Amino acid sequence: MIHIYTGDGKGKTTASFGIAIRMLGHGKKVCLIQFMKKNYEYGEILFFSKIENIDIYQFGSDKLIEPNNPTQADIEEAHGALQQVFLALQDEKYDIIIVDEINVAVAWGLIDLEDQKRIFAIKTKAEVIMTGRYAHPEVIAMADLVTEMKEIKHYFQKNIQARKGIEY
Ligand code: ATP
Ligand code: MG
Repeated sequence: MIHIYTGDGKGKTTASFGIAIRMLGHGKKVCLIQFMKKNYEYGEILFFSKIENIDIYQFGSDKLIEPNNPTQADIEEAHGALQQVFLALQDEKYDIIIVDEINVAVAWGLIDLEDQKRIFAIKTKAEVIMTGRYAHPEVIAMADLVTEMKEIKHYFQKNIQARKGIEY
């Protein structure tokens, strides 16, 4: 099954980690591939890197990407992430593959919508979760499960910045 967690509210990436934890609890194998995140200081990465049965691949840089005006390096990193997704899909060892922020990578033009749609064509036993704002209507139509996190309120509006343990 293919899941998409999208929308402007908080909770997309962390919802995917909730399922990863469930899988790990059952001794299953997890692959986490992150677009636009090269930062090992995230609490979840610090935690996951200490345990077995999860492989983590991060692509991107620690610099901000300008939407619709990505650098060549940003594009290359995103294509590296995409290649890793196809390797994971073909590797029969995974029970779940989380593709974090791929929807944003498509929306910002780092990879093509057609590349994301190719993921749906691969036959795999793995559950696949794709996260990120701005999921394209075509992938929403193709997915088996789509959840939209909707912002009702967020303390960001009160100028509260990202906090350790809550946002990273
Ligand atoms: P989380 O990683 O906490 O599950 P997310 O994956 O839903 O959040 P993203 O859209 O990936 O959130 O946003 C990246 C960062 O912005 C995260 O640190 C997230 O906590 C924060 N964030 C999420 N929603 C909002 C919002 N509505 N306004 C401001 N910041 C937000
Ligand atoms: Mg996220």
